[in-house]
Amino acid sequence: MTILIQGGTVIDPGRYHGRGSVLIRDGKIQAIGEDHSDSTQDSEPLTVIDATGLVVAPGFVDLHAHLREPGFEYKETIATGTASAVAGGFTSVCCMPNTSPVNDNQAVTEFILSRAKQAGKAHVFPIGAITKGSEGLELAEIGDLFAAGCVAISDDGRPVMNSQVMRRAMEYAKAFDLPVVDHCECLHLSDSGCMNEGLVSTELGMPGIPNAAEDVMVARNLALAELTGARLHIAHLSTAGSVRLTRQAKAQGIAVTAEVCPHHFTLTDDATRGFDANAKMNPPLRTAADVEAVKEGISDGTIDTIATDHAPHAPQEKQLEFDKAPFGIVGFETAFPLTIALVEEGVLSLEQAIEKLTSAPAKAFGLKKGTLAVGQDADIVLLDPSCQWEVDPDRFYSKSRNTPFAGWRVKGKVMKTIVGGAVVYECT
Ligand SMILES: [Zn+2]
Repeated sequence: MTILIQGGTVIDPGRYHGRGSVLIRDGKIQAIGEDHSDSTQDSEPLTVIDATGLVVAPGFVDLHAHLREPGFEYKETIATGTASAVAGGFTSVCCMPNTSPVNDNQAVTEFILSRAKQAGKAHVFPIGAITKGSEGLELAEIGDLFAAGCVAISDDGRPVMNSQVMRRAMEYAKAFDLPVVDHCECLHLSDSGCMNEGLVSTELGMPGIPNAAEDVMVARNLALAELTGARLHIAHLSTAGSVRLTRQAKAQGIAVTAEVCPHHFTLTDDATRGFDANAKMNPPLRTAADVEAVKEGISDGTIDTIATDHAPHAPQEKQLEFDKAPFGIVGFETAFPLTIALVEEGVLSLEQAIEKLTSAPAKAFGLKKGTLAVGQDADIVLLDPSCQWEVDPDRFYSKSRNTPFAGWRVKGKVMKTIVGGAVVYECT
C-alpha cells in the first residue's frame, strides 16, 4: 500500500520545512521532499492525498493524558479517549496510571496496551505508578513496569510527599533511564484549596492553593534530580516560580524537562468567577503574571513541551458545587488551536509550536515518535492553521464534555490524522 501526500507545506521540526510531499509505503515513511515521482513505481497502486493549503506535520505526542480505563469507563474508555486524541491530532498518547486498579503492575500495563491495540486509533504508551497504589509509601515494581512497556513513572494526581521515597524512585528509574514525572504539589500547603489563592479566591470566599504549593515541590524535585542524576519531567507547570526554578536548573545542567497545558497559558483564575467547575483544574488557573511567565518559558525553551492533561469527568460530577467537583478538563480536541494562538501572539513560530507538540515531547520520554524521518511509522497530521471554528463539546469524540472553552471561536483545525499509514480521523 503506497500513499502520496502532496501539495502541502511539510513541517518536520528541525529537519524539513517547505513545500513538499510525503511518501508512505507499508505504514512507514518512505521519503519526504519536493518530488517523489521517481520513487513510485508505475506498477504499484497509489493513493494520493491532496494537502493543498494545509500543513503536513508529524502526529502529535501527548505526554500527559488520563484515559480512565480500567475502572472509570463512565468517564472515558481507551477507545473513546484515543478517538478523541486522533481528532485532536495526537497519534501517540502517554496515559497516567491513576486508574482503578492503579497501573502499578504488569497486568494493568498489558491490559491497557491490549485495549489500545483493539481500539486501533492512537499509539498508547502507559506510564507506570511510582509507588504501589500511588499511595506514596512503597515503590512499585519499576523494573517490571519498564519490562511491560511503561515509558515513564508517575503518581500523577498525587505528589510523592515523602522525599526519601522520591529519591529511591529516581535511583531506580535512572537504572532504566525512565523519566520520573511528578505532580508537583505540597499537600500541606494546598490543603483543601480548590482554586488559585489570590484576589479572586478571596472575593469568591473559596479556599485557595498558593503558588508555593507547586514551587516548593519543583524545588525539591530539582534537588533530588541533581542528587540522583535521574531524568525529571515536571508535569503541568503553572507558576512563575516553577518557570524560574526550571530555567535555573537547566542552566546548571540538571536533567529536567517540563510541560505546560494549553489552559495554563490561555486562561487565568478570572475564569472561575462564575463558579463554573469546568474552570476547576489542578494545578489551578493562576494569575495574568503567571501566564506571562509561562509564555516566556515556552518562548525561551525552559518549557519543552505542551501536554493536554486530558482529564475527562462525567457531567454529574462537574455539576457539583465548585469546591466539591473534581479537578480537570478534557484537552485533546482543543489543544491545537490553543497552541496555535501562541503563534499569532508572537510567542512561537509555527514550526516551534509544532515542535512543542511533536519532536520535543518524543525526545523528553525517548519515544521514537514525533518525526517524519524515513523509516518511522507514518503517523501524520494534516493541519489547517487558519481555519476558524467554534468549540462545540457536543461534537467531541471524548465521552466527556468538561471544557471551559465551549462556544469559543478558535483558529486552527486538524483536518486528517494518519496512524501507521491508515487514516484514523477525518474532519467532516
Ligand atoms: Zn497532575
